[in-house]
Amino acid sequence: MLKLYEKYLEVVDRYIKKCFDDQQPFIHCNIGCCDCCTTGEYPFSRLEMEYLMAGFPELPPKTQKRIKHNIKTLLEEKNACDGRFLHKCPLLLDGNCAMYERRGITCRVFGLAYFETVNGKRIVKLPECSKCGLNYSEVLNNGEIGIEEFHKRGVDGPVSHPLNLTFFEKEILNGVNGLEFGEIRPILDWFVNIRQNQMRELDNN
Ligand code: SF4
Ligand code: SF4
Repeated sequence: MLKLYEKYLEVVDRYIKKCFDDQQPFIHCNIGCCDCCTTGEYPFSRLEMEYLMAGFPELPPKTQKRIKHNIKTLLEEKNACDGRFLHKCPLLLDGNCAMYERRGITCRVFGLAYFETVNGKRIVKLPECSKCGLNYSEVLNNGEIGIEEFHKRGVDGPVSHPLNLTFFEKEILNGVNGLEFGEIRPILDWFVNIRQNQMRELDNN
């Protein structure tokens, strides 16, 4: 199943690269920029999580230890938190993703504008980092999408450019090409189970 998923990822990556190319005039992603990995829940399906963890033993022992420490600390903080727990991803080390090649689909689309269809109407959403002066920040006008800012740049508007996230949601929920993605949970919730099964030594380190 993981081999099949790798093949699926090749197609997904090609599609996402096309979206980034299309949106290039509004993209400011750079190595070392990691705001998108600092505040979130990072939803992963069971299959994405299995793929991620299959690469964990290949990491240098020091890196594994740091990730385990992050997970342990975050799980304690989450337990003590009453509301929704938004947090830095435990795989983010020194401003870089420690498992970049195996990151989830949600991570692969970070930074793109996207649209959702609500009651038959297309609603365009900009990436969160647009509010921090990053991707698409130049078309924000008092927190709203300023269509005139697109026009100034010779672009009709965001609808011709963004990614249809529904495309992935449907595939993940229904499965595709023999792939069963399984349930979707915030990344930390997966680690609660993994901790019981594969990471028992977490408490001892
Ligand atoms: S898995 Fe990697 S890319 Fe995804 S949120 Fe975590 S650090 Fe960021
Ligand atoms: S998506 Fe935004 S926060 Fe993430 S790397 Fe790109 S510009 Fe930086």
